[in-house]
Amino acid sequence: CENPKSVNFESLSNAFNVMASEAQLRVTNMRSMIETGNFKIAFQPVVSLQNGTILHNEVLSRFNDSTSDYTPLEVIQFAEDIGVIEEFDLALCRKAIDYIRKMKKLGTPVRLSVNLSGRTFDNSRGIEPLLKTLLAAKDISHSLLLELTDTATIKNLVKVEAVLNDLKAAGFKLCLDDFGAGASGYQYLRAFNVDYVKIDGSYVKDIVRKDYKPTFLLSIIRLCDDLGIKTIGEHVETNFQADFLRSIGVHYGQGFHYGKPDYAPRTN
Ligand code: C2E
Ligand code: CA
Ligand code: CA
Ligand code: CA
Repeated sequence: CENPKSVNFESLSNAFNVMASEAQLRVTNMRSMIETGNFKIAFQPVVSLQNGTILHNEVLSRFNDSTSDYTPLEVIQFAEDIGVIEEFDLALCRKAIDYIRKMKKLGTPVRLSVNLSGRTFDNSRGIEPLLKTLLAAKDISHSLLLELTDTATIKNLVKVEAVLNDLKAAGFKLCLDDFGAGASGYQYLRAFNVDYVKIDGSYVKDIVRKDYKPTFLLSIIRLCDDLGIKTIGEHVETNFQADFLRSIGVHYGQGFHYGKPDYAPRTN
């Protein structure tokens, strides 16, 4: 290293340029996958804790191309940042509806759930085309469950409640996702007439901790039972967690214990 300063500067600057162009490429690729709907969907089963039958499969988006993998959280965050989560949710619903129709035709019917951002429900640019698409699929509404995610972004609870009631009247079932994770799931539980609550995975993770007490889980279950809402525990990874959830009255489980997301849905 005779002249470390100049050598380092040049290689650093090259490295920086490579990084910047890679980041730029990732952004370009993510935008293109969202805008063209060119992404895949994987399926993960939601299973009855009582008898092991499959309630439905959750649709999870998968983004990868020849150059890299993109995590769904990264792409969905990006879609929110650039203001196209509404288009993404619509593309996802179309994919799910097409898939349900295709499987029905093949004589192997499936029930699916899709994750939809609260943001999409809260603005007319998002909700008008989505409602139109979903109401036009009324004939398969019993096969599509809508998971409401990112509810914290919802400002107008009354407006969203009305939209959700229209969807319920058309036969779609509703699920409040990640319950207990954000600031307050309770206000959404109060406002929206949902059929299922998905209890956030962090509560399921706690079960295996030393000196664990199920205080919060029990109160969530009690509340949902009183409201006539079925509960789903997510991120169930062990038999112990499954047994525990069953013993305290959780109705359904989802997680690696039952099956990882896969490109084919699981059927009974
Ligand atoms: P989520 O809705 O909570 O989905 C469950 C996530 O937990 C999935 O991660 C799934 O692979 C993972 N998971 C399943 N079982 C287990 C388990 O036993 N243990 C652990 N530790 N994790 C488990 P994934 O597929 O990476 O998705 C992450 C998040 O990205 C989802 O969380 C959801 O918020 C979002 N996401 C994925 N696909 C979509 C989509 O199409 N639309 C929207 N809006 N969000 C999506
Ligand atoms: Ca979900
Ligand atoms: Ca979840
Ligand atoms: Ca979660």
